[in-house]
Amino acid sequence: MNLETRLTEAFRISPAQEKGLKKLGVVTIKDLLYHFPARYDSTADTSIISNLRKGESAVIFGTISGLKTKKAFRKKIPMAEGFVEDNSGKIKIIWFHQAYLAKMISENSFVRVEGKVSERKGQLYFSNPKVEPAATLFTSSKEHNLYPIYPESRGITSNWIYHSVKKVLSRVPLDIDPIPQEILRIYNLPNLKTSLIWIHTPKKLEHAQAARKRFAFEEIFFIQLERQKARHEFKERVAFVINRDIGELNKFIERFPFKVTGAQMKCIEHILEDFRRGHPMSRLLEGDVGSGKTAVAAAATYAVVANKFQVTYMAPTEILARQHFEFFIKYFSHLPIQIGLITGSGCLKFPSKVNPDGWTHISRSQLLKWVLNGEIAVVIGTHALIQKSVKFKHLALAIVDEQHRFGTAQRQKLVNKEERTPHLLSMTATPIPRTLALTIYGDLDLSLLDEMPVGRKKIITEIVTSEKRLEAYEKIREELRAGRQLYVICPRINEPDPNKPARHGFAVGESGGELAIQAKSVKEEAKRLKKEIFPEYGIGILHSKMKPMEKEKVMQQFKNHEIDILTSTSVVEVGVNVENASLIIIEGAERFGLAQLHQLRGRVLRGTHQPYCFVFAETKSEKTIDRLNALKTAKSGFELAEFDLLQRGAGELRGAKQWGISDLGMEAVKNIKMVEAARAEATKIIENDPTLSKFPILKERVEFVSSKIHFE
Ligand code: ADP
Ligand code: MG
Repeated sequence: MNLETRLTEAFRISPAQEKGLKKLGVVTIKDLLYHFPARYDSTADTSIISNLRKGESAVIFGTISGLKTKKAFRKKIPMAEGFVEDNSGKIKIIWFHQAYLAKMISENSFVRVEGKVSERKGQLYFSNPKVEPAATLFTSSKEHNLYPIYPESRGITSNWIYHSVKKVLSRVPLDIDPIPQEILRIYNLPNLKTSLIWIHTPKKLEHAQAARKRFAFEEIFFIQLERQKARHEFKERVAFVINRDIGELNKFIERFPFKVTGAQMKCIEHILEDFRRGHPMSRLLEGDVGSGKTAVAAAATYAVVANKFQVTYMAPTEILARQHFEFFIKYFSHLPIQIGLITGSGCLKFPSKVNPDGWTHISRSQLLKWVLNGEIAVVIGTHALIQKSVKFKHLALAIVDEQHRFGTAQRQKLVNKEERTPHLLSMTATPIPRTLALTIYGDLDLSLLDEMPVGRKKIITEIVTSEKRLEAYEKIREELRAGRQLYVICPRINEPDPNKPARHGFAVGESGGELAIQAKSVKEEAKRLKKEIFPEYGIGILHSKMKPMEKEKVMQQFKNHEIDILTSTSVVEVGVNVENASLIIIEGAERFGLAQLHQLRGRVLRGTHQPYCFVFAETKSEKTIDRLNALKTAKSGFELAEFDLLQRGAGELRGAKQWGISDLGMEAVKNIKMVEAARAEATKIIENDPTLSKFPILKERVEFVSSKIHFE
């Protein structure tokens, strides 16, 4: 038996269990050892059944039996009951209203029961207790009082995992540590073998914590190593040298109808420095919505076209691409260059012979010809740009707008088009904490646009509880009457299916069922608003299940003010500029992270009118309202992202899961020292040995990481 052995070869495993394991991502022995407990429970403060008293809250362990569901005698409420038994006695459990809970526990399983002890007709019973599967391990032993609770699946209990892990730990050699000894020593981390023993079978909580710290470090370290390796490889490539000085660029910049901010200027200078090196730039420009990323992109473009090279600029939607095309026409029309637009629905070119001040439709094949012979210097577009048929004469800069909307593979395709690698400028408005950015974007250099243009109106944000709802609608009506437009963001597309338990199908939710039922759906809310609140206004809907063409159409209608109100899900978060839309309602706000709320409200920051954001919350919890109030005081999205990280934990960070980082790894992200240490060590190793030829173990692991993690 070794780390790569499949569990099916090492243990007797039923097909059902195999399925359960697969669901947990556990296939090999190594997967099993790296399937860490989510938490530990202690037997120190548990009772035994014979000691239970009426009215007390208690924790006991025992075996479940006699499970059944029924309707309570007179009131017809659904209920379930069962018994739990330990060496000292037996006690009844009753669940009212939550009969489904009983279905989640299997007969004769060993469980932990926590709840209040009640009494009826002289009989003690647990009423609506929390019941969880438990491991049988330490309950009989005096010595140990911690036992691990693992992420479980059907047929795979914590108990099963624990016993399997114990067998593996005694049989598999674990002397090869993927983390170099030297690093373990510097940061005082336990070695692999010790850490595995401590994390699965801790005798003290401190041991478990030390082991968790080590594995968190390990995860971040290998991500860093993978990113640094990718970075090194990219930086080794050859790129066009673009030698333009800031004085020359200033002349271009002065033509903007505004004065660029200090932050914009700094980013432009970073870019010019990168351009001179002869190796490709890979820079991420992070800035809140409205911080003026397009102007930075235009300045970078100017430097490149002044050197007679080409630029491509990819945006996630047609509307956005079109918007950039118009912006570029405005600021490049005094120069002798041509600009093209490629989208799924057609191609445009500026200037045109028939219309020297404007654009014209041209055929795709004609446009591609002019791109290939270099006549068209700037090509803006959607995904359509990635296609093989789009070839350049000398592409020197690729700009990706809203880069989180594209996969790494798509970005790669854009920069891998040509023999010489173009410089890459990625732009995003997703505010994430610095530690997370350093981790997942470890291959990119970071420029922050952390300063808003002067004179930008501040969004007036109101946290609206249910009793203030009508008042808020009246305020909104005033603004609509004055000719403004409104976004309404809802958490769902459809009404929930009443036949399904409410807790299914929700990404976030603070307290499950109740919230879920109340969560508003786009379709129903649009109907309700039309019927009850704003009958005098045109209302459109927009959500992710609509076809791209339908989406574009509705957005265009909204942009042209053919409709006044756009009801949409949060999924559709596009940087579209609808200057007249100065109002936004966010329904079910308690379900969103602060950074996400901030991003959603950013949509109304675009125009000259005073923007308003109404954050509708159904909750009565003061803590939640307090959290939401941070929206009124925070200065930037980054501040809110840090706040989310500390308040709600990394698991709640938007997108945390999509990167493929484990919960434990995300915990490490809370710790700036650890992230910086992992980054420093990884950088050092790659600088000395870029291909990791001297570190076969590291190399193998890095390859594994790069197949697993998605940096999007
Ligand atoms: P984002 O960073 O969200 O992509 P945009 O580039 O779309 O922001 O800019 C938002 C608006 O701000 C645009 O109308 C743009 O012309 C304007 N803008 C950009 N930079 C400045 C500045 N320094 N001062 C004033 N307005 C600016
Ligand atoms: Mg933008």
